[in-house]
Amino acid sequence: MKLTLDPQGIAPAEDASTEALIEAAWDARQQHFGRRVGLFTPLYLSNDCLNNCLYCGFRRDNTDAARKTLTVEEAVQEARAIEAEGVRHLLLVVSEHPERASVDYLCDVAGAIRAQTGLTTLGLNAPPYAVEEFRRLREAGYDYYQCFQETYHPETYREMHPSGPKRRYAWRVEAMDRAAKAGFRRLGMGTLLGLHDWTFEVPALVRHARTLVDRYGATLSLSVPRLRPAPGAPLRQAPSPVPDDILTRIVALYRIAFPAAHVVVSTRERPTLREALLRAGASMLSVGSKTWPGGHAHPDRWTKQFDVVDDRSAAEVREDLVKKGWELEP
Ligand code: SF4
Repeated sequence: MKLTLDPQGIAPAEDASTEALIEAAWDARQQHFGRRVGLFTPLYLSNDCLNNCLYCGFRRDNTDAARKTLTVEEAVQEARAIEAEGVRHLLLVVSEHPERASVDYLCDVAGAIRAQTGLTTLGLNAPPYAVEEFRRLREAGYDYYQCFQETYHPETYREMHPSGPKRRYAWRVEAMDRAAKAGFRRLGMGTLLGLHDWTFEVPALVRHARTLVDRYGATLSLSVPRLRPAPGAPLRQAPSPVPDDILTRIVALYRIAFPAAHVVVSTRERPTLREALLRAGASMLSVGSKTWPGGHAHPDRWTKQFDVVDDRSAAEVREDLVKKGWELEP
């Protein structure tokens, strides 16, 4: 079935049945990815943060948090531990603390991991930077930049980010433009599903992403994280919950809107749903996630960001996918 999307968003597809959306998304997936699935593992560099996001255990006011920023050597150890699990693609995740996790530090980490491991892709999930800082990060060896807007709804954004540099909505929403101008062609985007009404968030992200494709020829990774309770975070429940069937629609809508983009599902979701989302258009999964700094080489030492739901090892996920007929990207 062919669903037509309006150039500004996804309005005509919103009324289609979930079955029709999945069918159209599967067609688009087949055309660009076949049965291929990309896998990556996040490496948390730091949980030191100046921000106070209501949904995150790394928030500055969580005085119970055990804080840690890995040294460059510890980051390499961690990368090696992940590589030993058979993973080739890494996403370095860093909270916002320009002194403890500076741009210089991030450049050193990329250089050391490039020199001392055989990992093929290094992504960076990090706060927004100025163009010149982005340029240095790109030159240091990061292949792509990821930064979730969390919510495109300005009032909700203000409410969820009461203090810290992340309060600046415009600085964050324009980060992708600055990253693209600095040479990042692959951009990772997402909203934290559950913060605000998904029928507002999804078209807003699609419009934003489309401008980046049109202006810079950007290659997209679109993530669909759902809010999960985090130790030390005051927000215990999603203000606008996104149930499984809606999450499935969102994945399908992203696939239909951007047939060649990676649509990414994290370990926040259970294994059976992750596989169902692959059938609804997702093309990439995180695996073996430990949501605190040093989680692979030094288990359970420092505060985690949230509890993962799919806690299988990378090897277990690979084996399960192959058994079910999926092809793993090299
Ligand atoms: S979500 Fe990111 S910016 Fe906000 S408190 Fe957590 S680590 Fe810091």
